[in-house]
Amino acid sequence: MLVSAKEMLEKAKAGKYAVGQFNINNLEWTKAILLTAQECNSPVILGVSEGAGKYMCGYETIVGMVKGMIKCLNITVPVALHLDHGSYEGAKACINAGFSSVMFDGSHYPIEENIKKTTELVNACNVLGISLEAEVGSIGGEEDGVVGAGECADPDECKMVADLGVTMLAAGIGNIHGKYPANWAGLNFDVLGAISEKTGDMPLVLHGGTGIPEEMIKKAISLGVSKINVNTECQLSFAAATRKYIEEGKDLSGKGFDPRKLLAPGFEAIKATVKEKMELFGSVNKA
Ligand SMILES: [Zn+2]
Repeated sequence: MLVSAKEMLEKAKAGKYAVGQFNINNLEWTKAILLTAQECNSPVILGVSEGAGKYMCGYETIVGMVKGMIKCLNITVPVALHLDHGSYEGAKACINAGFSSVMFDGSHYPIEENIKKTTELVNACNVLGISLEAEVGSIGGEEDGVVGAGECADPDECKMVADLGVTMLAAGIGNIHGKYPANWAGLNFDVLGAISEKTGDMPLVLHGGTGIPEEMIKKAISLGVSKINVNTECQLSFAAATRKYIEEGKDLSGKGFDPRKLLAPGFEAIKATVKEKMELFGSVNKA
C-alpha cells in the first residue's frame, strides 16, 4: 500500500534499522523493487529524481504506474513514493500529483532561505499527510566530471531544520553521490553523533549509499540513520547483467531479442541488489 514514510521511519529509528530508498527509472525497476520488498516483507521507499520524473513522462504517470503495480502485484508491505532532491517547485508538483513523500533540497540556499521554504512545505505536507525530507549541508558527488568531497552539516543548523516539523533529515557527513573515489576519507561519525544528539528522535537520512563499506553502514544505523538511499548500485547491477546477456550472444539466439527476455537478467540483478541491501539495513520482516 502507498503510505507516507513517517511511520516506517519512526519504527526504524526506534528499532535501530534503516529503510532503503531505491530510485526508479522505468517499469522494470519499479516492479523489481516492489516484488523484492514484498518477498522480504520489508517497508520500502521508491525514489524519483526530477530527471527520472521527466524521463518517465511526468509525476502523474509515475503515480499511476506505482498505484497500478501495488494493486496488480498484491503488494501489502508499506511503500512510500518519494521525490528525491526536489526543488521547491518540484516538491509542490509531486504533492499535487499524489506522491506520498517528498524531499525538498534547500541545501544550496543560505540557511534562512532553506528554513523559509522548508517551513512552507511542512505546512503543505502536514495537511495532506505527506512525509517531508529536508537537507542541511550539501552532499557531494560528481558534477561535470569533478568529484567533490562530501561536506559535513552543522549540527546546530540540523537542529533548527528538524524543529520545523519535517519527517526526516538528510545531513552531509562526508557521504557523496555516485562511486566513491579511492582516497575517500569515510563517514564522519563524530559529526553524525553530534547531529543525532541534537535532533533526538528525528530519523536521519544517508544519501549516496553505493559503495559505503558494510561496517560503516551498520555504525551509521546505530547512530540514528533510519533511511539509506541507493541508486547507483542498482544501475551498475542492471548494466552488468544486461552486458553479460548480450556479450554471450543470447539476444541473437531464438527469441532472445524479445524485450521481456533481454531485460530479464537486469531485472533479476536489481532484485538481488535490493535484497542484499534490505538484509544489510535490517529491514527484512519489518513491514
Ligand atoms: Zn541524494
